Amino acid sequence: MKISESDYYRNEMDIPYDPGIGFQIGMNLNLIQHIPYQVRDKFVSLISIMGNRSSGAPRRSFPIDDLADRLDPSTEEKREFWDKDFGVLMTHDVDTRLGYNYGLAKFVEIEKQMNFVSTFNIVPKSYEYDVSKQLVKSLLDDGFDVGIHGLHHDGKFAYLTPSEQRERIKEAASIGRRLGVSVLGYRAPLLHRTKQMVRILTEEGFHWDSSFPDTDASTTGYASTGSRTIFPFYPLYFNGTEWQRSGMLEFPVSMPQDWTLLYYYRLSEQSMLKVWKKKLDYIKSRGGLAVFVIHPDQEDFGHPKHHKAYRELLSIIIEADAEILTSAELSKRWKAKFPSV
Ligand SMILES: [Zn+2]
Repeated sequence: MKISESDYYRNEMDIPYDPGIGFQIGMNLNLIQHIPYQVRDKFVSLISIMGNRSSGAPRRSFPIDDLADRLDPSTEEKREFWDKDFGVLMTHDVDTRLGYNYGLAKFVEIEKQMNFVSTFNIVPKSYEYDVSKQLVKSLLDDGFDVGIHGLHHDGKFAYLTPSEQRERIKEAASIGRRLGVSVLGYRAPLLHRTKQMVRILTEEGFHWDSSFPDTDASTTGYASTGSRTIFPFYPLYFNGTEWQRSGMLEFPVSMPQDWTLLYYYRLSEQSMLKVWKKKLDYIKSRGGLAVFVIHPDQEDFGHPKHHKAYRELLSIIIEADAEILTSAELSKRWKAKFPSV
């Protein structure tokens, strides 16, 4: 198949996936487990940024970089997809025990009150919590969506061999199915994606993935990466002999994450809300898709002290008159309108 210039950038073909040697050393020495979660991210991000500078890796603009959209002649058509001016996917990666036991239910309560829907990405074999089938059922029954957040949340995926990566994804998919998730979707833990990941997810029957940021200045080991688009797209993978377009949809993470603004940029809640509103306005003006990652964990927006700001964020989205969707719903509708070719 022919790879267009926009494909080239959307699929990050210009960058090597390199989670950073600092992270790998820490992982091998088992140091990472002893550093508090958020500090760990920050520590590794600093190392990876330094690494990228010295290796001369290409930089992305943050928080807006739409190069792939500008190069894609079908962008105008995609802008017309929505029933409103633009789309919003609210996603929650459930990383910790308290996020699962407390933050998740709190987000559900807040969102129900505000007539909102979201996607909860659960870790099928978490070291911190056991996913209950009953909880998954009640989320799905209430109109929420459930995605699969890796198999374990241990930051090791990118260092595994391709067959080990496949084993993990295969097991995650089978647990997801057993839990009753019919439209399987994936979010890579720590957004650690690999060259094989899209192929494996496609072959294991995932319908959507949301692991590529649009532009990213801070994610662990992946600073200065991103797909440079604010629209869903069908990612490419190499099948051993040639490039193929996946039938699985990618929803780029196009909004800065809560932890990024809290810990990397160290913003106040009011400044965070301003940053989110600014980017939301931009995505609305382009008719794109805003994909949020807001964590129900105590270190992040799941902490009670942030619940008021979370409600404010939801109000900003509602006032912007966005079309608010679940990942499964968007995946079905987008595929019907723009099939993968
Ligand atoms: Zn996570």
